[in-house]
Amino acid sequence: MSTIFSKIINREIPADIVYEDDLVTAFRDINPQASTHILIVPNKEIPTVNDVSAEDEQRLGRLFVVAKKIAEQEGIAENGYRLLINCGKHANQEVFHLHMHILGGRPLGPILSRP
Ligand code: AMP
Repeated sequence: MSTIFSKIINREIPADIVYEDDLVTAFRDINPQASTHILIVPNKEIPTVNDVSAEDEQRLGRLFVVAKKIAEQEGIAENGYRLLINCGKHANQEVFHLHMHILGGRPLGPILSRP
């Protein structure tokens, strides 16, 4: 069964796609947590970081190359931004198709809220 992100990549459901190439696709998060909130997703379905293999090195490296490009396009490169990948239950991962969040456009505060 394909993930909701595969459906976006395959144009089966709509999304605001900002970038795509042979290895990754990037689109705006449907529930943005900052003025810039974009997800970069490998076109191959990898459920979590726990499922990554050496064969994925090139596509996962591409996430960073595209993150840098998008940060420049969005005008957030100079002030900085956060790249985030959730893995599994304790990280509250919701969509089991590995993805990198790019968050920026305001000061984001500490990485974790204090208990
Ligand atoms: P995570 O908790 O890291 O799995 O994050 C999943 C993210 O996917 C959340 O920020 C959701 O708002 C986002 N999301 C879920 N469905 C869609 C969708 N159809 N289009 C864009 N973003 C989505």
